[in-house]
Amino acid sequence: MTLKVLSVASEAAPLVKTGGLADVAGALPAALAAQGVDVTTFLPGYPAVLARLGKAKAVHKWGALLGSPARLLAGKLGEHPLLVLDAPALFGREGGPYTDASGKDWDDNWRRFAAFARAAADIGAGAVKGRSFDLVHAHDWQAGMVPAYLRLAPLEGGRPVPSVITIHNMAFQGYFPGDIFPQLGLPPSAWTVDGVESYGGVGFLKAGMQLADAITTVSPTYAGEIRSVEFGMGLEGLVLARSNRVHGILNGIDTAEWSPAIDPHLAARYTGGKLAARAKNKRAVEREFGLERDDGPLFVVVSRLTWQKGMDVLAEVLDHLVGIGGRLALLGSGDAEIEAAFHAAAVRHPGRIGVRIGYDEPLAHALQGGGDAILIPSRFEPCGLTQLYGLAYGCVPIVSRTGGLADTVIDANPAALAAGVATGIQINAVNAGALAMGISRAVELYHRPAEWKRLQKSGMKADFSWGASGAAYAALYRQLIEEQG
Ligand code: ADP
Repeated sequence: MTLKVLSVASEAAPLVKTGGLADVAGALPAALAAQGVDVTTFLPGYPAVLARLGKAKAVHKWGALLGSPARLLAGKLGEHPLLVLDAPALFGREGGPYTDASGKDWDDNWRRFAAFARAAADIGAGAVKGRSFDLVHAHDWQAGMVPAYLRLAPLEGGRPVPSVITIHNMAFQGYFPGDIFPQLGLPPSAWTVDGVESYGGVGFLKAGMQLADAITTVSPTYAGEIRSVEFGMGLEGLVLARSNRVHGILNGIDTAEWSPAIDPHLAARYTGGKLAARAKNKRAVEREFGLERDDGPLFVVVSRLTWQKGMDVLAEVLDHLVGIGGRLALLGSGDAEIEAAFHAAAVRHPGRIGVRIGYDEPLAHALQGGGDAILIPSRFEPCGLTQLYGLAYGCVPIVSRTGGLADTVIDANPAALAAGVATGIQINAVNAGALAMGISRAVELYHRPAEWKRLQKSGMKADFSWGASGAAYAALYRQLIEEQG
């Protein structure tokens, strides 16, 4: 039997993207179609999304969705059905999905994403004629209130369906002051620790984790890590209490977007059997970043420049990286202090370090296709996608041993090298000493070309496409629907 699932996300590639969530939400419909699951994606109507939607049909209306009039527009995300919440008072503004143009969170984010979740719950429960769903899949805090509305509020469609919430990053919880509670349209009984209350406020992610039928994280290791105080960030007790409902399902990569053999953003396309063609891509990166040419390794970074990503630690070891013959091309944006540290390093090491602050999808592909190794020293990493792209592109990942990084990269220790299974380099701790050592190991290995090539090839052979993960989500959906009877 084909299942119908509503996937509720605040971003989805290629329409709107600030990070990995968009890649995953964008890839799920195709991944699940292969498993007999029809996914409809539901997105907020940001200006960029409405512009891409063009002339779309309104399939439903709300007179007042948490106070704002709203329409539901139907379109397509690739070949798959898309629904968009057109609520100009909430989403019709310039800036990012969550912040204004200066990077400050919108003051009314609670209302924007509560309204979005309320609409999702109505749709999931069957409010839209001709569109019924068997299950709702909510992503991150922005959709965290969906399970709460499904369970606790009177719904327009009236048919409760099971829900799943996926945590893409526990660090973003959507925590708001308690005085918003009366405006959420939930019954007073929802104001309890078994409902949406969290440490005296309203926790959107917490509400989702409390009230969804299943919680998933985007890697098995992260599913274990969030049971601890360090990674649970205040919600570890809830994770432990619901541990029989927590599943770790690794993200896959969208091979239609991320395959070096067909990638239109590369100067030269290649396969594992034609690695020499990467040289042309390396030259292109060197030119783009104003780097000298030599026969040493070119390290790359494509990342948010934040504490989570360990980018402050990387900034500390750049003199070492250059000192042992490395060069760095970095693309990213984030904390002003970290950006400044990279700029300063580029000034200290002209021709050896090139920095591009900003967000640039084609350049992200070019770096994976031309870099020798990608640096990802995250302090925590729910799954991480850039190491998976690195593996697929023969851009050897150098990662910390945490979350999805630990699950997907096999360290080039002597035994793994001898067995031919190594795919990258893991560092044991996120500090300058450990990272410097990891970079040194990479430089040494790079100068043993046969071994380096083997490392690249093993990574390119590893299968991180959506097959297994799509099957795991589909099995979970079926189990929850059966449980509901
Ligand atoms: P997170 O979602 O925590 O930022 P992930 O590794 O899961 O980290 O996903 C990051 C995604 O965003 C990848 O697709 C990566 O290529 C992309 N990305 C990150 N920074 C940039 C940037 N400055 N320009 C282009 N793409 C970027």
